[in-house]
Amino acid sequence: MKKKVKNSILYVVVPCYNEEEVLYVTTEKLTEKLQNMIEDKLIDKKSKIMYVNDGSKDKTWDIISELNEKNSFVTGVNLSRNRGHQNALLAGLMTAKEYADIVISMDADLQDDINVMDKMVEEYNNDCDIVYGVRSARKTDTWFKRTTAEGFYKFMKLLGVDIVYNHADYRLMSKRALNELENYKEVNLFLRGIIPLIGFKSSTVEYERNERFAGESKYPLKKMLNFALEGILSFSVKPIRLITSLGLLVTALSFIFLICYVIGYFLGSNVEGWTTIVVLICFFGGFQIFCIGIIGEYIGKIYNETKSRPRYIIEEVKLNEDK
Ligand code: UDP
Ligand code: MG
Repeated sequence: MKKKVKNSILYVVVPCYNEEEVLYVTTEKLTEKLQNMIEDKLIDKKSKIMYVNDGSKDKTWDIISELNEKNSFVTGVNLSRNRGHQNALLAGLMTAKEYADIVISMDADLQDDINVMDKMVEEYNNDCDIVYGVRSARKTDTWFKRTTAEGFYKFMKLLGVDIVYNHADYRLMSKRALNELENYKEVNLFLRGIIPLIGFKSSTVEYERNERFAGESKYPLKKMLNFALEGILSFSVKPIRLITSLGLLVTALSFIFLICYVIGYFLGSNVEGWTTIVVLICFFGGFQIFCIGIIGEYIGKIYNETKSRPRYIIEEVKLNEDK
């Protein structure tokens, strides 16, 4: 049994990519929140905010450095270049776990309601090692984002991947869970899929997601599609199996066509078959290319995994004197 830790040191890990517009406000709100939680004796006074600068092109790192000088709650990790949200988050989690008992990850734009952090810590005190923040409504999302996101969760479930419905990367993890996460070495990182695999007692906390208060989304459609594909291909071989079955089905269909043509030949009704042939050639050609493509996607993943390159490189870490 895990020992109940009261007054744990909490690190809030926030990946940042070109977030100069939001950093001051985010810091102000998070500092106030941490102060309140310290006063309520929920967390230790050594608790911190840890920003991870994911190779931003704007003044993000300068602002983090400046805040680190002025505000004793602010610490920062600077990555050597942009590695994407998931890798930046992992870099932050792995750095923070050296100093913290519990880590909460969230986005820089405060779309996730910071007021449920108390509840998350309470759940941790009830012996949970992982607490998932789950969105209760998607009112602030566009119709397109809502439908595609919810469709994605349902599709993943259908493929047999155990992900928490409507949970993004707003979650609390204990040091113990983070130490286990370190053992998952995959380069194709999809944390939402990996973390439920860790196990331990977990629970969920509901919240309403707000709109980004400043700046633009750093997740344009292209990145979102890549992310979804990452999730599907890294966690399920069902698409390959589906293709095998589809291949068999199409072969069976072509046999049926063949029989029809043979019958037609004897009945003497086979005259202009040109269209049919072209349609069939196109159909099979396209289908085969599609299959090769999917298999190629998996081979690509294997290729990346076998290289096992580092998932991030930290250039600098700024802590705060009392740690
Ligand atoms: N982010 C990052 N690296 C990237 C893209 C995004 O660290 O390459 C961070 C970003 O700064 C933010 C979080 O990931 O803190 C989520 O991004 P965003 O809020 O733009 O995504 P959305 O909420 O629109 O899905
Ligand atoms: Mg956002």
